[in-house]
Amino acid sequence: MRHHDPIPPGTRIGILGAGQLGKMIAIAAARLGYETVIWSPEGDIPAMQVASYPIIAPYDNEEALRRFVNLAAVATLEFENIPVDLVEKIAEHIPTRPNAAVLRVTQDRWEEKDFFQRMRIPITRTVRAEVVVDGHAEFPFPAFLKTCRLGYDGHGQVRVKNLAELRDAYATLGHVPCVLEEEVDFLCEISVIAARGIAEQKHEIRCYPAVHNVHSNGILRETKWPSSAVTRAVEYEAKRIAEVAAETLGVQGLLAVEMFVTKDGRVLANEMAPRPHNSGHGTIDACYTDQYEQLVRAICGHPLGDPTPHSAWRMENLLGDQLGLWQYILRQPSAKLHLYGKGQVRPGRKMGHVTFLSPR
Ligand code: AMP
Repeated sequence: MRHHDPIPPGTRIGILGAGQLGKMIAIAAARLGYETVIWSPEGDIPAMQVASYPIIAPYDNEEALRRFVNLAAVATLEFENIPVDLVEKIAEHIPTRPNAAVLRVTQDRWEEKDFFQRMRIPITRTVRAEVVVDGHAEFPFPAFLKTCRLGYDGHGQVRVKNLAELRDAYATLGHVPCVLEEEVDFLCEISVIAARGIAEQKHEIRCYPAVHNVHSNGILRETKWPSSAVTRAVEYEAKRIAEVAAETLGVQGLLAVEMFVTKDGRVLANEMAPRPHNSGHGTIDACYTDQYEQLVRAICGHPLGDPTPHSAWRMENLLGDQLGLWQYILRQPSAKLHLYGKGQVRPGRKMGHVTFLSPR
């Protein structure tokens, strides 16, 4: 098979990682007639419930690697912190979309910020935290200290109000490489998911509309579309940023970019992920083509679908014991309930989500 030949239904898609995003990719893949090979070191997690071929083994297991590349025609991921050397090894056998070069940038906050700056994409003032901690530079507080690697859902980041707090927080995080970001006094937070395909080698890009996100303690609580906070100018700039990033990185698949909208109407990039995104869950019920199907189309070399919403929507994450609301939610006719099937309930853990639809 030539590198850009479409990958036909009836073959298998390999997915690295097995959380809820992997589960929703697998469901979309099944709808289009694909089976899935899902590889994760952990077994008892959402995507394994729907995997055609589960592979439960550490990522450095050579036998698992052989099985994965023998079964799958293409590989993708639901989690950007997959070891880059594994993705490189897989790419010796089957296309990996996105590829290792994209992961190298998106696994590291400093690389990401550096990339945004080189692309002249506006960001909040950001430095390597070490230079401020060591007293080599001044920095305006309050600020956010964030580990370069492995941060998620508010983990690996601390808001600091002065140098003493910064030094304490840096020690608490374990003296690992960190970035320091000036706090943005934002009007709202938004995100855009761009899909970039390979069909006919044209690498067409299609963006979902900018959605309005509400976080608390670093965890996404709610996403809505449309929102009065997202003006036409903001929407245009947000999509431009996502397109520039997806095109320059050469993403094959999806790129989700989270951004701040400042009170004076500027759009600042915060972070990006080369995979489906929590803020895109509402696309399952509200758009002609949801983000998961779009990913499958993109990585298999098919034409991209229409990302336009046919309904207005609001998505709420069900965190921890909010899982217990399921009966109440099922009684609401316009609510679409998605539960991930996670066994253990922990405070702040994403157990499911609900999307409320209304006519556009
Ligand atoms: P992140 O992990 O970078 O997405 O940060 C999680 C959340 O923390 C963001 O969605 C914001 O709500 C908040 N946050 C992070 N960085 C900043 C910042 N520089 N200024 C203001 N709020 C921030």
